[in-house]
Amino acid sequence: MSDIINILPDSVANQIAAGEVVDRPASAVKELLENALDAGATKIQLIVKDAGRTLIQVIDNGCGMSDSDARLCFERHATSKIHKADDLFAIHTMGFRGEALASIAAIAQVELKSKMHDSELGTQVIIEGCDIKEQCSCSCPNGTSIAVKNLFFNVPARRNFLKKDSIELSHIEETFRRVALINYNTDYTFYHNGKLLYDLHGGNFLERIAQMYGQNYRERLYPVDEDTDVVKIHGYVSKPEYARKSRGEQYLFVNHRYIKHPALNAAVEKAYTDLIPDHYYPTYFLHLEVDPSRIDVNIHPTKTEVKFIDESTLFTILRAATKRALGQFGLATELEFNPIQEVDFPPAPQGYVPQQPQIHYNPDYNPFHSSGKSGGSLSGGTGATRPKSSQWTSFFDLKKDEAETVTPQQTTLPQTEGEATPSTAEPCLQLMGSYIVSTMPSGLLVIDQQAAHERVIYDRLMSQEGNAAAQQLLFPVNCQFSPADADIFSELIPDMQKQGFEIGSIGQTTFVVTATPAEIKESELQQLFEQVLAEYKGSMMQKFADRRQCLCRSLARQMAMKAGTPLQQAEMQQLIADLFCCMVPHVSPSGKKTMAIIPPEKLFKIEN
Ligand code: ADP
Ligand code: MG
Repeated sequence: MSDIINILPDSVANQIAAGEVVDRPASAVKELLENALDAGATKIQLIVKDAGRTLIQVIDNGCGMSDSDARLCFERHATSKIHKADDLFAIHTMGFRGEALASIAAIAQVELKSKMHDSELGTQVIIEGCDIKEQCSCSCPNGTSIAVKNLFFNVPARRNFLKKDSIELSHIEETFRRVALINYNTDYTFYHNGKLLYDLHGGNFLERIAQMYGQNYRERLYPVDEDTDVVKIHGYVSKPEYARKSRGEQYLFVNHRYIKHPALNAAVEKAYTDLIPDHYYPTYFLHLEVDPSRIDVNIHPTKTEVKFIDESTLFTILRAATKRALGQFGLATELEFNPIQEVDFPPAPQGYVPQQPQIHYNPDYNPFHSSGKSGGSLSGGTGATRPKSSQWTSFFDLKKDEAETVTPQQTTLPQTEGEATPSTAEPCLQLMGSYIVSTMPSGLLVIDQQAAHERVIYDRLMSQEGNAAAQQLLFPVNCQFSPADADIFSELIPDMQKQGFEIGSIGQTTFVVTATPAEIKESELQQLFEQVLAEYKGSMMQKFADRRQCLCRSLARQMAMKAGTPLQQAEMQQLIADLFCCMVPHVSPSGKKTMAIIPPEKLFKIEN
C-alpha cells in the first residue's frame, strides 16, 4: 500500500491554527488590542469598518518594532514575551504564545507600520495569506499600526459563518470593553464606519466603568477591596436592587485579563443568596491580582480560561469579600441616605370617636359572568379580539400534538349547557406563591404561574400588529445605551412601536419614551430595555432567529409576573383561561413547561 501521510504546507497549517485563535472579527480585535497594551501603549485607536469584515485597524503609541521584528512577528511561535518553558509561570503580558499575528496574516490582508521611538524611520510590511508582498522603510509615528483588511478573504466558509453586522459589532464592542475596562490607565478611541463610539480617557477603574456604562453606574455599585496573601481583590459589585434577569455585565479579571471561570463567578453570585430573587443576577466588575506562578493561563488558545492552584481558597475569599461589601455598604447607605420616612397623621379632632369602616360589596358580582368587565385580566392590554376560553378544562383534553397545531380561533369551543366552565370550576389554590393548582377531568392540574404568564403575554404581543394599547406617559422618560446597543435598539424601535411603545431618539445614544404598554412601570424602563437588549442579543446569535419573535420573547419574559406574586382567585382563573387560549399552552416561549397534569392513578399510587 502506498504512503498516504503528507506534511501540510505552512499556509494551510496556519489557516487551521488561525481557526483556534481568530474565529470572528472580535477575536482579531482582542489580539491586536492586547499586543498594543503589551507594547506599553498609553493611547490606542481602534478603527473598524463593516463590523470588522473589511477593516480592523489598531494604532498604538507603544514601543514599536525593529525592521526585522516587523517581518518576524508574522511567523508562527514568534514572540518577544517568553524564552523558555519556565517563563510560562511568570507571565506579566497579555500574549505569549506568538501565534496571533501569524494566524491573522493567514486569513487576511495585513498592513503593518511600526517605528521604534529612537529610530528615524519606520518599517512597512504588507502580507497577504502568509505571503509577504512588500517590506520597505516608511515614515510613520512612533508605535505600531496594524490594519487587517478583508478578514477570511481566503476562507469563504468562515466568512459565511459571520453573523449580521450588528451582532458582529456587538461582539467587537464586548471584546473592546473587556480589554478597556481593566486596562483603565490607557486612552482609547473606537470608531466604527467613521462614527466615534468610544472616547475613553485614562483614569481609575470606577471612572472607566462610568465612562463606558454611564455615570448612573456610580450609584448602582458598591466597592470591593480585599488584600490577602493569596489574592488582592479590587472592584465593584451591583447593589442587589440592580440585579438583572440575564448575566450581562459580569466581569472577572485576573492580572488585567478578562477570564471566564464558572466557579469564581458562582462565588460572587453566592454572596447574593437571599438578597435577590432566583434567576436574577448581579452585575460586577472585579479584578483579582494573584502571583502569576499560581495560575495557568495556557490552557486555552484565547486565554480566557485559566486554572488556579488555590481555587477553593479563592472561592471562599471572593465570596466573603463580596458579602462584606454588600453588608457593609448596604447598611451604610441605608443609614446615611435613606432615613426612615415616618408617616405623618394629622391629629384627630377632639371628641372624635373612631368607627369601624363599612364594607360595601355586590354579592352577585362574578368576574366570569361575561359582561366584559372582569375584575382585571392578567393578560392586560387589548384582550378584546382574543377568543374566550369558556371551556378550558375540556380544551386541555386535546392530545398534546393536536394542541400544538390548533390556532387561537379554533380554541373557542361551543358552549354547551351544564358543562363545566371556569365560573363553576373548582376554586384554584396557589402553592408556594408560584404554582396554581386546580383539577381537570383527567387529573390534578399544576401550573407554573410565571411560565404561564410569559406564554400568555408572548401570544398577545405576537398577535398584535400595530394595534396595541399604549399608555401616554405624563413625563417622557429618557433611556441611554452604549453606542452599539443604541444601534441595536434603533433596529428594534419599529417592532417596539407595534407593542405599544412610542420611542424617539435624541442624539445617537439617548432615546425618549413617551408611551408604553399599560402594564409597564416607567421607573423600570431603562432596566427593562437593558434586559431586553441583553436577551435579544443572546437569542439573535442563534441561527435562524426571527427578530420579532426574539423581541416578543424577551419582552414577555420581562413583563411576566414573577414567581412569588400572590394571586387572587379571580386572577388565577383568568390566567388559566388566558393560557388555554394560547396556541401552545403547555410550554412558555422560552421553552419551560407551563403545566403538569397528575392523573389520579399516579396521585394515589403508593410506591413500595
Ligand atoms: P504574542 O503576543 O503572543 O507574543 P503575537 O503574534 O501577538 O504573539 O505577536 C508577536 C510579537 O510581535 C510580539 O511578541 C511582539 O514582540 C510583536 N508585536 C506584536 N504587536 C506589537 C505591537 N503593537 N507593538 C510592538 N510589538 C508588537
Ligand atoms: Mg499577542
